[in-house]
Amino acid sequence: MTQIAVLGSMNMDLVAYAEKAPLLGETVTGRAFRTIPGGKGANQAIAAARAGAMVSMIGAVGHDAYGARMRETLEHSGVDTDSLRTIEGPSGTAHIVVDDEGGNAIVVIPGANGTVDHLAPGDEGVIACADMLLLQLEIPLAAVVAGAQAARRHGVRTVLTPSPARPLPSELLDHIDLLVPNEREAATLTDRADPRDAAAALLDRVPQVVVTLGAAGCLYLTRDAAPLVIAAPRVAAVDSTGAGDTFVGALAVALAEEKPIREALSWAAAAAAVSVQREGATESMPYRPEIEAQYTA
Ligand code: AMP
Repeated sequence: MTQIAVLGSMNMDLVAYAEKAPLLGETVTGRAFRTIPGGKGANQAIAAARAGAMVSMIGAVGHDAYGARMRETLEHSGVDTDSLRTIEGPSGTAHIVVDDEGGNAIVVIPGANGTVDHLAPGDEGVIACADMLLLQLEIPLAAVVAGAQAARRHGVRTVLTPSPARPLPSELLDHIDLLVPNEREAATLTDRADPRDAAAALLDRVPQVVVTLGAAGCLYLTRDAAPLVIAAPRVAAVDSTGAGDTFVGALAVALAEEKPIREALSWAAAAAAVSVQREGATESMPYRPEIEAQYTA
């Protein structure tokens, strides 16, 4: 079995559903409330574990009920949480209002994620044992850089999801093998609206780029071969929350298994296509047999 390490965030999403979001100073009555484990690190860890890899999650939760539930959620999907620390303060939370049009407003409080600003003893050993390290930008940049550098020292391939998009220093990108922005992030990072132009610009800084394009699939560029465009399977989408993280988790597993790039991208697109047909982020992420069924369909 392949080994994937994820260094990143875990948040409890506290979601209020209301006809409309309140303006400043206003109070509205909503109709439902849900607590949903999330955070891009945890999402990608769960996606990769369900896709069939042994996954270790490196990060932190708080000493509270949310932290306990998030740890349990990871373990339930088979993710190893030995490198997930419990710190004294609160867990990371995302306070979300979803209106009837599907629009949302979000306040994120990093909580425990904010304490992940370095690698703890043992983390480098976990990274060294992995085939692939998955990184995002929801923990302090210093830890993301340290993780990427540790991976490079041990010949472990790195995949960075540049979300939330922010300027990326060379000390990070010099150690990234594959960058996977969505269309909006690619545009923000490069000031180029066309995804192909944006991906071409990013190739100056990393050797491989995948830009995800929602229902339009994805675009892959590398320095030494022609670009690939992979269509997404046509499905009846009901909720694309977590589709990007599902795509990255499954892609990492396929690449760690040494699938050729075209097949790996199609396999990841199949995984994401299953997830968009169901509600929720992690709840909608497919297990390997479901990916195989969508892939061969
Ligand atoms: P996004 O983050 O929206 O770019 O989506 C990530 C990936 O999820 C895409 O590259 C697609 O493979 C898949 N995806 C997203 N939306 C859909 C959809 N409506 N139908 C099929 N696949 C989708």
